[in-house]
Amino acid sequence: MIRNTKKRNEIINIIQDSSTPISAQEIYNKMSKNTTINLSTIYRTLELLTKENVLLQEIRNDKISYYQINNNVHKHRIICTKCNSNTIIDECPLKELEEHIKKDTGYKLTNHTFEVMGICPKCQSKPEFPFEMQQKISKKVNEQ
Ligand SMILES: [Zn+2]
Ligand SMILES: [Zn+2]
Repeated sequence: MIRNTKKRNEIINIIQDSSTPISAQEIYNKMSKNTTINLSTIYRTLELLTKENVLLQEIRNDKISYYQINNNVHKHRIICTKCNSNTIIDECPLKELEEHIKKDTGYKLTNHTFEVMGICPKCQSKPEFPFEMQQKISKKVNEQ
């Protein structure tokens, strides 16, 4: 039991230190080299901590789960669909909505995820497709 607590704390510490939500693989990479925790233990622990509402789990469109500490300062992100970089949104835009949902459904809310997708300023300045590809596409459209 003591060993398990130590593992949990190590994982929680890494998540707390991270400025953005973090995946199991990223947690594993950040672990000290002499750790005895393997990746499947991390997955199991993260799952458990999510069930216990210690963590918030967020599944991104790359199908990978990202975790953050479940507290009042939880974070949401906007993700670039082109380069997959992400930026933290300062405020949770769902607080008010949660109140409505609580009233309407009588649920005690334990979690929510919210993700915004877009194209980052860097990618916006890059051309959409190489020129030849654009021509091919417009040709196809004209043929139809
Ligand atoms: Zn981008
Ligand atoms: Zn939120």
